Amino acid sequence: MGLSGLEIYKQLPKKNCGECGTPTCLAFAMALAAGKGALDTCPYVTDDAREALESASAPPIKAIKFGNGSVLGDETVLFRHDKTFYHPTTLLIQVSDILSDSDIEAKVQEINSLEFDRVGLHYSIDGIAISNESDDPARFSYVVDKVASATALSLLILSENPDSLSSVVSGIASRKPLIGPATAENFEKIVNLAKEYSVPVILKGNGLDSLCTLVENAQKLGYKEFVLDPGSRTPSQTLANLTHLRRLAIKKKFRPFGYPVISFTTKCEPLDEIAEASVYVAKYASAVVLKASNKAQILPLMALRQNLYTDPQKPIQVEPNLHSVGEVNENSPVYVTTNFSLTYYSVEGEVESSKIPSYILPIDTDGTSVLTAYAAGKFEPEKIADALAASGVADKVKHREVIIPGYVAVISGKLQEKSGWKVVVGPRESSGIVSFSRSI
Ligand code: SF4
Repeated sequence: MGLSGLEIYKQLPKKNCGECGTPTCLAFAMALAAGKGALDTCPYVTDDAREALESASAPPIKAIKFGNGSVLGDETVLFRHDKTFYHPTTLLIQVSDILSDSDIEAKVQEINSLEFDRVGLHYSIDGIAISNESDDPARFSYVVDKVASATALSLLILSENPDSLSSVVSGIASRKPLIGPATAENFEKIVNLAKEYSVPVILKGNGLDSLCTLVENAQKLGYKEFVLDPGSRTPSQTLANLTHLRRLAIKKKFRPFGYPVISFTTKCEPLDEIAEASVYVAKYASAVVLKASNKAQILPLMALRQNLYTDPQKPIQVEPNLHSVGEVNENSPVYVTTNFSLTYYSVEGEVESSKIPSYILPIDTDGTSVLTAYAAGKFEPEKIADALAASGVADKVKHREVIIPGYVAVISGKLQEKSGWKVVVGPRESSGIVSFSRSI
C-alpha cells in the first residue's frame, strides 16, 4: 500500500540538509513515493518515523516464503473480482512419523508423483507436512531426514515439542522449512528457534483473541516471519475464522493479522476431506494441510485452485497456431475454435477421443470463448479466413472443408465466401464432437 509524498514528508526531519542526495526533504519524500530512493539514505530519520513509514507501506498481508519457492500471503483484496489473487494456496500432504518406514516411503513416492497437465498448464503438489505424532524427538528426526532425502518438495515440520523441532531444524535449514506450531505455552522457544535458523514459523492460537495476543507477544521477540493458525478444527468455525482474519487484514489493516493463514483438514473420508479443503482454498487459506494423496482425489482440488487463481483479466490462452491431434494426414478434418484455453482443450480432448487424427486452428480471440468472441466481433468470417490462409493448413490437406462450432452457424455462408473453403457446421458443444466426427 503506497504512501503519498506528503504522507512521507510528514515523517521526515525537515532539515533540508541535502545529505540524502536531494536538495530538500520534500524532494526526498517525492522520490521515495515514486519508489526511487531508500529511506536509509537520510541519516536523521527517527526510529518512530521509520517504524511508521515501514508499517504504513507494508502490504496488508505479509509475503512469507519457504521451501521450494512456496509463497504464502501477499494478497491485497477480499474478492478476486476486485483485482486478482496472486499466490495460489499452497497444498501440503501430511506424513506422520508413526507410520512404518515402508508406508512413509510409499506415501512420499505417491506425493512426489502428484503432477498434472490441465488446459495447457503443468502443476504439482507443493509440499509435505511431516507431523510428530509419536512425540519422540529421535523418531521424528529420523523420519524428517528420510522424507527430506526422498523429495524436493517444500517441507512443513509439525511439532509442538520444541525439543523435537530443534533436533531437526539445523539439518534441513537450507531447505527453509516452515516449522511450528508455536503456541502460548511454547512460543518463546519455537519462535527463537525459527529466528536462529531464519525459517518461518506457525503461530497457533485458540481462537482469534488468543491468536492476536500470541502474535503481539511473538513480535516482541524481534521476528515477523509468521503464518497464522486460528486453532479451529471444524469446517464452519475455520471458515468463519479465515474470513474474519482476511477481512481484518485487508479492510481494517489490523497489523497483528497481516500474515498468511494455514488450515488443516479434519475429515477422514477422502471426498469429505477434499470438499473441506476446497472451502479453505476458496476462503482464504494461504496453505492447506491434508491427508488424501490419491491423484483422483487431489486433481479436482488443484483444478479449483487453478480456476480461482487465474487472473480474471487475463484469460489463459493457447497459441493461435495450427495444432495437430494424432498422426494427421492429407485427409484429416480441420476444426476451428477460439484460443481460450478451456474452450481449446475441451475441443482437443474430444477430438482425441474421436480417434480421428485432426487439425485444430484456434483463432486469436484474446482468450474468449466462442459466443463471447462472436458477440465481441472477434470470431468474424474475415478473421477466420485470414487465419486459415496464414496457418498453411491448405498445404497439409487435400480437401477444402473447415468445421466451425455450431453456435456460430450463422457465419458459415460468409466464411465460405471469404475463405473459399466449404464450411461444415459442427456441434454446439465440444461433447458432441465424437459422434459428429463419425458422421462426416
Ligand atoms: Fe531531509 Fe534527511 Fe534529506 Fe536531509 S538527508 S534533506 S533531513 S531527507
